[in-house]
Amino acid sequence: MTTKEYFLPQSLDEAVGLLADHGPSLLVIAGGTLAMPLINEGVSMPETVIGLQRAGLNNIKRTNGSLAIGATTTLTRMMADHTIPLLQEAAHHIGGWSIRNMGTVGGNLFAPPPSGDFAVALLALDAQVKLVSNNSQRVLPLTEFYTGFMTTALQPNELVSEIMVPVPKGKTAYLKYGRRHANTPAIVTVAVHLILENRIVKDVRLGLNAVGPYPIRAEAAERVLIGTTFDQEAIAAAAHAAAEECQPFTDSIATEWYRRRMVGVYVRRALTQLAG
Ligand SMILES: Cc1cc2nc3c(=O)[nH]c(=O)nc-3n(C[C@H](O)[C@H](O)[C@H](O)COP(=O)(O)OP(=O)(O)OC[C@H]3O[C@@H](n4cnc5c(N)ncnc54)[C@H](O)[C@@H]3O)c2cc1C
Repeated sequence: MTTKEYFLPQSLDEAVGLLADHGPSLLVIAGGTLAMPLINEGVSMPETVIGLQRAGLNNIKRTNGSLAIGATTTLTRMMADHTIPLLQEAAHHIGGWSIRNMGTVGGNLFAPPPSGDFAVALLALDAQVKLVSNNSQRVLPLTEFYTGFMTTALQPNELVSEIMVPVPKGKTAYLKYGRRHANTPAIVTVAVHLILENRIVKDVRLGLNAVGPYPIRAEAAERVLIGTTFDQEAIAAAAHAAAEECQPFTDSIATEWYRRRMVGVYVRRALTQLAG
């Protein structure tokens, strides 16, 4: 263990002040479920660490038609919030109780694939993230937050303070497929928000996890659906488009080939559930 200093700021202002003073050498920890194993195994050897647990970022605020989730809100807490059932379901599908009790919503945005089972639901809901530094604050759509495999738009002097989620106006579906029923890494996770008007698809957001460098939107599949009659033919075409456009990978859980096949299967199942 090389850590010499551990800061526990009592407010967001204090936290971003510490980031400004110490620069990128300061390791940020929220729930610690990703960061601590790396430190314990000697993969990450930070000299200074900042814990966000007491920085006042663990509230959920309900405003006109949207939910503002503090970045350090735990996944267990999200399971108990009934405002957006899709988010409850997403939290429920992550790890086991110990991970959900410690792991945070903000932390899930930084989890490498195949993790990202909460973030994919946020993508389907058109969530935005608030990034705060000691002298600025900006809001980005989640689609612009991710820039590559384990890279984001977050600057070294910034923290994610809040995730803003519009309450969905349409139907939602969430399906996670892994090798086991529970406490399992994803082979693929699908999250959908669908708005229908007289059986015509007015709008749709289709998120995919574990089949790209980060949770992605299946935009080609969305384009296939928008403006069409929501029937089995449209669903099959969208599932095919999603399987074509995703960027799966091979790991110890599944091959690239299998993941792509399962994207087609699970997108079809999720959409069929909504057609139900
Ligand atoms: C055994 C196990 C099983 C798991 N299973 C799943 C699963 O099924 N599905 C799934 O999606 N995930 C899974 N995960 C990943 C889990 O979702 C993440 O570990 C958790 O969400 C990360 O949150 P955290 O607060 O613990 O992150 P931390 O470990 O505290 O943070 C990790 C890093 O994220 C950054 N960070 C975190 N919060 C902020 C912030 N507010 N601002 C700026 N930077 C920040 C920092 O760089 C930090 O070092 C699993 C993890 C484990 C260990």
